[in-house]
Amino acid sequence: MNDALRELYQETIMGHNRSPRNFRELADADAQATGHNPLCGDKLAVFVRLEGDQVEDVAFVGEGCAISKASASMMTEAVKGKATDEARRMKEAFLHLVLRDAEADEALLGKLRVFAGVGEFPARVKCAALPWRTLEAALSGKDQPVTTE
Ligand code: ZN
Repeated sequence: MNDALRELYQETIMGHNRSPRNFRELADADAQATGHNPLCGDKLAVFVRLEGDQVEDVAFVGEGCAISKASASMMTEAVKGKATDEARRMKEAFLHLVLRDAEADEALLGKLRVFAGVGEFPARVKCAALPWRTLEAALSGKDQPVTTE
């Protein structure tokens, strides 16, 4: 990763950690799920309000490291207003990006591409992935908490 990208990555993480977007409960959520990353101690709940098959609103609460919080914050910005299918495709692309296990659809990811940087810190990949796995659980109506272990 070049210096400019590393700097952008660090600035983005710090900014979203300092003032996370959509950091609240949704009282009238249609779907919600909780996620836990025991290795780091990240715990969060993701709330989704649906209008047909569209994500009308999405929010999260929880405690965790800067990476999990920034990832959750950027995820809520990215999927709000999107069809649930597209949100799921973004989740797949995001996991490929951070796990580096397949080519990620970068056009679909947009600003989320900055998380390519997390691949350099293997211990942090689960932190970045947790909010997306939790979103997927909420959209799938799973009532079991998500755990990265
Ligand atoms: Zn973490």
